[in-house]
Amino acid sequence: MKLIDKRNFHLFQPLLYQVATGGLSPGDITYPICAVLNRHPNITVLQTDVHDLNIDTRTVILRDGDISFDTLVVATGVSHSYFENDSWIPNAPGLKTVEDALDIRRRIFLASEAAERETDLEKR
Ligand SMILES: Cc1cc2nc3c(=O)[nH]c(=O)nc-3n(C[C@H](O)[C@H](O)[C@H](O)COP(=O)(O)OP(=O)(O)OC[C@H]3O[C@@H](n4cnc5c(N)ncnc54)[C@H](O)[C@@H]3O)c2cc1C
Repeated sequence: MKLIDKRNFHLFQPLLYQVATGGLSPGDITYPICAVLNRHPNITVLQTDVHDLNIDTRTVILRDGDISFDTLVVATGVSHSYFENDSWIPNAPGLKTVEDALDIRRRIFLASEAAERETDLEKR
């Protein structure tokens, strides 16, 4: 059995909020996929991008080659949607990845620092 993932770690998404607000570090909510599965010698973990699937030839098309399959489970997760209101993007960033959480954390911390130095109470 092969498990293909473009990332080499499992991410526990429900705790992304805590990373975004500085309560946890990214390493607290991620774990190497190989370490999770190393007790299962019948599973091979491949870190690579899936570009496409060919159902007719039963082939997974990777960034760096193809793999054939008998049975395929696709579980690529989800992404957020602004329901055609892309003007919301700058003020309402998504929170699905570690990178999203770190970007929100950076924005919150920088805003707090700026408020600390702001003498105009209205702006603060
Ligand atoms: C902030 C937040 C809070 C949440 N809180 C809760 C909660 O309290 N309770 C709850 O039940 N659920 C919660 N969820 C939802 C839950 O985390 C998700 O439903 C769950 O993680 C989905 O699992 P999944 O395996 O389908 O997708 P994911 O965990 O997203 O895994 C998909 C995997 O596919 C890989 N991948 C994607 N595209 C490719 C590609 N082209 N090639 C190779 N690999 C690829 C990704 O790297 C990823 O590892 C929350 C989600 C978020 C974002």
